[in-house]
Amino acid sequence: MVIGLGRFGGAVALTLERMGHEVLGADTDPRLVHEFAGQLTKVVEADCTEMATLDQLGVADFEAAVVAIGTDIEASVLAVLALCDLGIANIWAKANNDKHARILERTGARHVVFPEQRMGERVAHLLNERLLDFLAFGDDFAIARLKAPDPIVGLPLMTSECRKKFSVTVVGVKRTGQDFIHAVPDTIIFPDDELVVSGRIEDIERFSAIHN
Ligand code: ADP
Repeated sequence: MVIGLGRFGGAVALTLERMGHEVLGADTDPRLVHEFAGQLTKVVEADCTEMATLDQLGVADFEAAVVAIGTDIEASVLAVLALCDLGIANIWAKANNDKHARILERTGARHVVFPEQRMGERVAHLLNERLLDFLAFGDDFAIARLKAPDPIVGLPLMTSECRKKFSVTVVGVKRTGQDFIHAVPDTIIFPDDELVVSGRIEDIERFSAIHN
């Protein structure tokens, strides 16, 4: 079930539906209900802050509930609380800020996501021209796709000792016009290769910026 069919909730609901799940979408806004009708298994106009409403909608039959109400913090917290009281274990909720996230976690949301904040951080990292893609996992750990830094070009990975010298692990290598391959110790890095590396964010940033 997806509660709130704004930009975030709408994207979650449509993607789940495309993946073959049965999705019930709910929103208080009749325009959105109209827009999503026919695109999801079922769409209802409902205020999902009430336990009785959620119960009537058969929420207990769903594997997971996503609370995608961002702006109205009170409504988002009440919806999580009602879902929790109905015994839904797998609740995902969207938070606007840290305080909102803490409240959602204490109210019973199992997963709290910050789409705007995460995307903001991602864009900031991608502004570094050598980073082509970036995914942070929390606890300061990330996986990034980047242009091979010059000092390791022409060498097999075991010689450039990325893990020892730069504290990053090269996981995969993409050569122009070829598919990604898993990196092994004797993989030689060519100019223009793209690498997939894992490590601490700070170490990845430093590694991407090393030059001769
Ligand atoms: P986004 O940035 O993803 O568009 P919004 O916070 O603007 O997020 O949108 C949240 C959606 O949740 C809106 O479409 C709003 O109508 C809906 N919504 C707000 N309160 C409730 C509620 N009590 N029950 C169901 N849907 C709600």
